[in-house]
Amino acid sequence: MKLVSFLGDDQPQIGLVRGDRLVDLSQADPSLPHCMKALLELGPEGLDRVRACADASASRALADVKLLPPVSHPEKVICVGVNYADHAAESGMETPSEPVIFNKFPTTLRAYGDEIVLSPLSSEVDYEAELVVVIGVGGKDIKKERALEHVAGYTCGNDVSARDWQKGKPGGQWLLGKSFDSFGPTGPVLVTSDEIADPGKLAIQCRLNGETMQASSTDHLIFPVDELIAYVSSVATLKPGDLLFTGTPPGVGMARAPAVYLKPGDVVEVEIEGIGVLSNPVVGAD
Ligand code: ZN
Repeated sequence: MKLVSFLGDDQPQIGLVRGDRLVDLSQADPSLPHCMKALLELGPEGLDRVRACADASASRALADVKLLPPVSHPEKVICVGVNYADHAAESGMETPSEPVIFNKFPTTLRAYGDEIVLSPLSSEVDYEAELVVVIGVGGKDIKKERALEHVAGYTCGNDVSARDWQKGKPGGQWLLGKSFDSFGPTGPVLVTSDEIADPGKLAIQCRLNGETMQASSTDHLIFPVDELIAYVSSVATLKPGDLLFTGTPPGVGMARAPAVYLKPGDVVEVEIEGIGVLSNPVVGAD
């Protein structure tokens, strides 16, 4: 299934995508939660109830609704640094022996079509196309062998990064450099894990104004999805709706000669096989 969060009648709703139309779940089954995180908290039973609505009337056109991030208010947005070997090389970093984990604030999250808003506090804002894992069943000390059972689905993400904060501030301000408001577009859809046979075999691309900047496959991940879930959950309890950005392939703007940073008027697209295209315009600060 492809699920979206969208704004319907001034409140968040969940929709089931059917072609270019949507089954509005608040009409198909009014007893279902209206928020993706609450739906995922019901566990696999919640998604089964959504599946049962597959033949309901697709009453809305996808093009007519305002999409929201698939999960708007996750408890955690967890990120993985240098998780593609060739990206490590272009960044001048060693290939890590364990996953490099950091986070973004949930206030970064934006949907398909929303603006990435530049800040006067940074002149080196970069794009990072990433496969984002959406946790379904939470847990602590999740075994690698069972880890994919904890995944509700996948979406596209752009881990927008202020390099002058990430690299130029005392101690390296990874959290703030990646947490300016609007620096976490995700979407457009959440594709449930039953439709992604292997999250380690997906083509991933980033295009800037139509030009391909990153083109790789998740089979180049140093630490695959199951290992990441096992690693993070050995420390912190994962909750339904938590997001895990799995790292970006080579081709980021910072590593180019000359460097390419985002400017007002740009459009960034992240495309992942089997999921779709996440497109966001870039604007300057007011
Ligand atoms: Zn990243």
